[in-house]
Amino acid sequence: MRERSSQALHARCFLLLPEPQRVTEPMSCLRTFFLWRSAAGLLLAVCCVAGLCLATGCQSEPPPTASAPAARPRTTPPASARNTPPNRPAPPVKPSVAKPPRGIEPPANLGLGGSESTQPDTGFGPGRRSPNLGELMDQPGAAPAVAPSKTPRMAIDQAKTASRGIRKISGKHLDLYTDLPASPAIDELTTVFDLAVPKWCAYFDVPAEKAADFRMSGFLMGDANNFRAAGLLPGSLPNFPNGFQQGWEFWVREQEDDYYRRHLLLHEGTHGFMNLMLGGAGPPWYSEGMAELFGTHRWENGQLTMQYNPPDKTETPGWGRVKIIRDETAQQRALSLLDVMRYDSRAHLRVEPYAWCWAACYFLEHYPPTRQAFVDLRAQAADRQGDFTSAFYEKLKPQWPEIDEQWRIYTQGIEYGYDLERALIQHQTGPAREAGAQPQEAVIQADRGWQSTGIMLASNGRYLIESTGSFQIAREPAWKCEPNGVTIHYYEGQPLGIMMGAIRMDEAALAGGPTTLLNSVPLGSSFLLTVQQGGVLYLKINESPASLADNAGQIQVRVSVP
Ligand SMILES: [Zn+2]
Repeated sequence: MRERSSQALHARCFLLLPEPQRVTEPMSCLRTFFLWRSAAGLLLAVCCVAGLCLATGCQSEPPPTASAPAARPRTTPPASARNTPPNRPAPPVKPSVAKPPRGIEPPANLGLGGSESTQPDTGFGPGRRSPNLGELMDQPGAAPAVAPSKTPRMAIDQAKTASRGIRKISGKHLDLYTDLPASPAIDELTTVFDLAVPKWCAYFDVPAEKAADFRMSGFLMGDANNFRAAGLLPGSLPNFPNGFQQGWEFWVREQEDDYYRRHLLLHEGTHGFMNLMLGGAGPPWYSEGMAELFGTHRWENGQLTMQYNPPDKTETPGWGRVKIIRDETAQQRALSLLDVMRYDSRAHLRVEPYAWCWAACYFLEHYPPTRQAFVDLRAQAADRQGDFTSAFYEKLKPQWPEIDEQWRIYTQGIEYGYDLERALIQHQTGPAREAGAQPQEAVIQADRGWQSTGIMLASNGRYLIESTGSFQIAREPAWKCEPNGVTIHYYEGQPLGIMMGAIRMDEAALAGGPTTLLNSVPLGSSFLLTVQQGGVLYLKINESPASLADNAGQIQVRVSVP
């Protein structure tokens, strides 16, 4: 047993993890407020089925009906149009997130919800330039939701379509028009879509009968000019990078990877299903996060798995959301959950917000303390009272410091296949035991993330932390390990399996700042620790949160005053 040199462990995390640096100018509260008013406009816009605006001005004419013969040029852009992201980061543009000063309680309404926008109509009309995506998605959406049966469909001239080399592939819930040559990966897309519909129904609690007539038109474009010439790509649409949805239609540009093409199809399909079947899709973080959650999938042997947690990047070529979060975090641009929830519609002109919204929805869906409240949001998707996110936050507010702490642990260590259940921080109830004249002992599981020892270490104290036991860090082949780890494999710069320690200070956690669990040190089998700021000792072995499931065994820990 070797003894490591004495080191000090204290709350350096505040230095290691500064506040995210924004590349924009400071934003005043008033500016922030108005940004959120505009986001509120989107929320309302999302609630409005876009086809309404396709044929009429949003506010000036009565809603069209399904029997309308053909769409006339609209005078305002569609309201519930949604786009999908580029699959690689764009050059930085002005961020759309404003963060309250540290240590200040967010305002009562958090700027998280929506309310009726007071923005003037930007007046896009015939003869004017096409709106860009942000402008389009930020339109006031005062029009009431329209039942799917009343939502007009875009007129499709089949002869003209065929003359441009565009063929039609029909499934039960999707007519897919494409100018791409026949291939299994293209021609099976309607099957993929049809398999998605019952899964959307199940998650969003929509009876199958209600979705029986749910049938969208999708345009998979090799050459957008073909679709424009065939009248299938209205000039009023924004110049979207990859995908776009409004009303009963969506458009997807051809992709290099079969995976990402399907991903976009399912992403736009999720928008369509939510807008048409639920009457809305919620604010940007929820709408885009759910589209990403359901877009991230596995397709193998005719089986579709949605809400997939890809175990490695090879299963999802072109997607890259995990890498984006890792890169953002490494660049000190980690976002809190509230940051993500404050995204406005313009944020989604860049790819990073899609990654953050996916991560937020994945986390909230799988983290036990938030799961039920998050699932319940499906019933609020059409909420137009403006308190969608605020009400969600208020419901979880008492637990928010712990939720935020877990979120930071998740995003700082995000990996493909991250095992959120196993990586949950395990706290102990009851008063912590003081390590003093009497040594204190604890048992740590090898297959879990941070675990409280229940042992309190005092400020300025010196402690000997000894760990013993043999445990398994891989099943096939079975791989035994001891608390010093194995030095032929490293994870995050430390030997795989080495005992890691951190002192968690409740005050810091409750202040909503970076958790001190991010300030860990390798302890190995024996470590003489000098504590600067006291707190409860937390331990875990050093391994990827994606690889905990094949671990087994326990480590006995003894803490004494030398
Ligand atoms: Zn989208």
